[in-house]
Amino acid sequence: MTDFPSLLKPLDLGFTTLANRAIMGSMHTRLETLDRPLERIARFYADRAHGGAALIITGGFSPNEEGLLEPKGPVFNNRHQIGEHLPITREVHDAGGKIALQILHAGRYAVHELSVGPSTLPSPINPRAPRRMAEADIERTIEDYATCAALAREAGYDGVEIMGSEGYLINEFTAPRTNDRNDSWGGSLENRLRLPVEILRRVKARTGNDFIVIYRVSAIDLVEGGLTGEEIVAQAQAAEAAGATILNTGIGWHEARVPTIAQKVPRAAWSFAASRIKSAVGIPVIASNRINTPEVAERILNSGEADLVSMARPWLADADFMAKTAAGREREINVCIACNQACLDFIFSGRVATCLVNPKAGRELEFDVPKPVARKHVAVVGAGAAGLACATAAAERGHHVEVFEASARIGGQLNLARNVPGKEEFDETLRYWQTMMTRHGVRVHLSSAPTADSLSAFDEVVIATGVTPRTPDIAGIDHPKVVSYADILSGKVTGGQRVVVIGAGGIGFDVAEFLTSPPGEMAADTAHFRAEWGVDAGVTGRGGLAKAADAQPTRHVTMLQRKPGRMGRGLGVSTGWILRLALAKRKVAQVSGVTYRRIDNDGLHVTVGTEDRVIPADTVVICAGQEPARELYDALERQGKAVHLIGGAKLAAELDAMRAIDEGVRLAYSF
Ligand code: NAP
Ligand code: SF4
Repeated sequence: MTDFPSLLKPLDLGFTTLANRAIMGSMHTRLETLDRPLERIARFYADRAHGGAALIITGGFSPNEEGLLEPKGPVFNNRHQIGEHLPITREVHDAGGKIALQILHAGRYAVHELSVGPSTLPSPINPRAPRRMAEADIERTIEDYATCAALAREAGYDGVEIMGSEGYLINEFTAPRTNDRNDSWGGSLENRLRLPVEILRRVKARTGNDFIVIYRVSAIDLVEGGLTGEEIVAQAQAAEAAGATILNTGIGWHEARVPTIAQKVPRAAWSFAASRIKSAVGIPVIASNRINTPEVAERILNSGEADLVSMARPWLADADFMAKTAAGREREINVCIACNQACLDFIFSGRVATCLVNPKAGRELEFDVPKPVARKHVAVVGAGAAGLACATAAAERGHHVEVFEASARIGGQLNLARNVPGKEEFDETLRYWQTMMTRHGVRVHLSSAPTADSLSAFDEVVIATGVTPRTPDIAGIDHPKVVSYADILSGKVTGGQRVVVIGAGGIGFDVAEFLTSPPGEMAADTAHFRAEWGVDAGVTGRGGLAKAADAQPTRHVTMLQRKPGRMGRGLGVSTGWILRLALAKRKVAQVSGVTYRRIDNDGLHVTVGTEDRVIPADTVVICAGQEPARELYDALERQGKAVHLIGGAKLAAELDAMRAIDEGVRLAYSF
């Protein structure tokens, strides 16, 4: 008997059957920009089909040039392009999967000169004013959608998804926020819904009744001037009447100032929005956003909130998500921790998406390395992110691996990060490594510090001894009120009412967040999340927004850095704004361009510009970066031993879990 009966249950659509209830949601990967793009994309999707995705939805393809998100983005509007899709659909089908093409017209989010919209209103996140579409443009665009869907069918896709959410073109037509028209495409709800309804009708007419047509409805817009709950339900019903086979749900416009998928968002926080729609239609409804484990998925399905779940990033983190679930090996799933660091942040900065916890994602061809013939005896010293990633991957490849960790538990810096509200997801990564190391027989020696001599018998020695916090050279640094970020994040020191944080890198921000969070705040608390960010779960007003609760800072925190200018430039593109906004609400002061003079009983003495100041402080937290911890490596080098150095021990500057894991896994594939 499985623990996931609802998730594993097939779904009969009448003309075809989905093998289970887990969809792989659409994600832009930019794989098309690498060498051998077709081979890479086909392999990327085929691996996920093989791993049990019931239906894969591709990244968005524009139906015409105006709808491209960026110049040279993916478009599907010509028969000559069919050949570029055939290997993808063939490989997915050969792997036993199904695949639908997402049709996405970017509307005013397009970053090129041809951008169009219902009005000329630009988006707050894109300064370009779109061209107002004439009625002839709208008619032509509907035809382009239908043509794109027909081409998708010819290319072997099992269906299409019409993207109607997230603030793209269709959503711009449905919402008064962006639709100021007074012709038959604006004004009344019926007129605002005309565009998606006409697209769906035309697509159905061109593709027939044995082709999956998903409409992705915005289940809550989270922007002023968005749809009301009643209008959203009416839209879902109109889409059903126009022939949609399945309704997917989108959450929030890209310009919304409410986090929708970041770590701060509790798991399954948005399933209520899918549930509102499910209770009003007869076709299957998909819940999406912050669903990252089979347990969460099962809970949503079992409670009747949705018929299917869509996961996008979790399929980057583990291509075998459903295969492992079906085999009762769910503890072996490498769970997406919602960090966005290697997926969305890469995409937003022009790079090709991969995954922090799974560097093989999107790089499948690079890891096509035959299993080693000889089984090596590998020592990994240090059980932080780099060491654990290396040990796990090396053991999976068949090597005999031993891990040596100086402290009494595995995890290294992740044991600190996991205490920051919202970063509890790192527990999943540690659980994954622990499970996989146990499965592959890795011997872990805790509270163990091997010497250079004791490692001489190993074939490969990996030094992943991590970092030590940097102690800046400031007079009074040994004052009793000075503590390190490790003292604070580990809970060893609580900190006083007035706290000064020296250093505003990722850890400085984490510490400020930690110190100003309400006691016991966990990302799992949905009610707290809704209150903090102003979400109205009843979606009674436009956009589903409510007045956000005023923050009640429990202490006064001041962040300092020596560099001039705005703090937090190195934070993630897709998540930095969330952290900055949260800290601003909690009245965390930020002072840049600081020279540190001394610390004494009065607090921290600094100079800012030409002004000398004393910042009163009960506690001064040092978050001034790290230095590599590599004594063992140096000792081995002195003995002339060939050893590998990875993670923070190799380079502490700008170390993060992403680089540490990537280095660890890649090194393991070289053995
Ligand atoms: P970091 O990002 O390098 O920041 C170190 C901070 O300390 C800087 O603000 C720097 O600013 C200051 N600093 C450096 N040397 C100093 C000195 N001698 N005296 C006083 N101040 C000094 O390092 P981190 O904050 O420790 O973070 C480590 C790594 O983990 C980073 O790569 C970071 O991105 C990553 N991380 C990421 C996240 C995330 O959410 N993505 C969270 C935590 C950590 P000034 O030189 O201007 O004073
Ligand atoms: Fe998930 Fe982070 Fe991987 Fe993106 S990079 S898929 S958010 S774990």
